[in-house]
Amino acid sequence: MNDSLEGGCACGALRYWLASTPMFVHCCHCRDCQRLTGSAFVINALIETDRITMLSGDLTPIAMPTESGRPHDVYRCPGCQTVVWSDYGRRPGLRFVRVGTLDDPAALPPDVHIYIRSKLPWVTLPEATPAFDGYYDPKSLWPAASLERRRAILG
Ligand SMILES: [Zn+2]
Ligand SMILES: [Zn+2]
Repeated sequence: MNDSLEGGCACGALRYWLASTPMFVHCCHCRDCQRLTGSAFVINALIETDRITMLSGDLTPIAMPTESGRPHDVYRCPGCQTVVWSDYGRRPGLRFVRVGTLDDPAALPPDVHIYIRSKLPWVTLPEATPAFDGYYDPKSLWPAASLERRRAILG
């Protein structure tokens, strides 16, 4: 069991554990993510829902308005309302886990920066990490093993 992939909400009632590393990690600089977090960006680890084990607590899904019109449900701790993960596009097999809720958020650095057209001007991105104005094609960037995992849940 990888201790570094355990996490939880702010009040501590909700705890979870990731059974493996994610398929890919997004750092998203879009306006929706900035509003939702009240910050400059969000870091999302894309992982199969069945690789997330709930250790304690409950989740409340809430539908969010989006610029794209695609559905976006955020899952919150009912006690403290921390968002621990999202479902983009109502795909039950895939979750976007908020990396900031991990006990060790440094364990999962971003593999890609997206929607940098709305990146805050004082955020400097590392040269070595790919960055896109908007979204991107996973096939162009994800490792083969991650694409295989993605096919297994999304077809
Ligand atoms: Zn909580
Ligand atoms: Zn975003």
